[in-house]
Amino acid sequence: MPLDLHALRTAQAAELNGRFAHAPAEDVLRATLDLGDTALVSSFGADSVVLLHMAAAIDPSVPVLFLETGMLFAETLTYQREVAETLGLTEVRLIRPSPEDLFLHDPEGDLHGRDPDLCCTLRKVRPLELALQGFDAWVTGRKRVQGAARAGLPIFEVEGGRIKANPLAAWSGSDLAAYMDTHALPRHPLVAQGYPSIGCAPCTSKVAPGEDPRSGRWRGREKTECGIHFAGGVVVRPDGTIANKG
Ligand code: SF4
Repeated sequence: MPLDLHALRTAQAAELNGRFAHAPAEDVLRATLDLGDTALVSSFGADSVVLLHMAAAIDPSVPVLFLETGMLFAETLTYQREVAETLGLTEVRLIRPSPEDLFLHDPEGDLHGRDPDLCCTLRKVRPLELALQGFDAWVTGRKRVQGAARAGLPIFEVEGGRIKANPLAAWSGSDLAAYMDTHALPRHPLVAQGYPSIGCAPCTSKVAPGEDPRSGRWRGREKTECGIHFAGGVVVRPDGTIANKG
């Protein structure tokens, strides 16, 4: 990334963080959509409907990027269609992994058990990087309450030359539940079955009462994030070889 663009974005994020430090999430979202070409990245998971509802109220044609990894629960795919229809979202894009990457590195669909970091790179990180090309900014539903790694989450940050906004950064679980109740929003069916955080089926397990809501993700491994929210990690070159991300 050219240094002047990085410096420009960093200054822009700092100014936005100052201006929207105590602003409602809807205002943060509206300001992000006004920054230029902006995409909302959604997993259509346990809490996703809150941000999607806010976005639909502002602009139902906002591009929503949904990482369809090929490993999701059938319930998530059904819920995605239900939520998009209920909210009137007209531009949900299903982002899939490259067939060539899967052929080369995960022909049996078992890479998640052997090398989950590479699996996430092939099925999430690389497809998202490609899907975000051409966008100036993107929006995520991450929250500070989602574990230590997210405790210091800013509202606006810079990644890959783009502004990345987290309008719900300060929201608690009860804030989200209250919003869903107020607006009578559909719930992901797996939440009631003990899954407060929902990702790919092979890497998501039920969570006991009192456990960290994200403790069911990659349970038994040190891994806590899929990699789409870090500038580091690995990339898969077009020829299929692996390299560290710069
Ligand atoms: S969450 Fe699991 S199955 Fe999904 S991409 Fe990552 S390692 Fe693969």
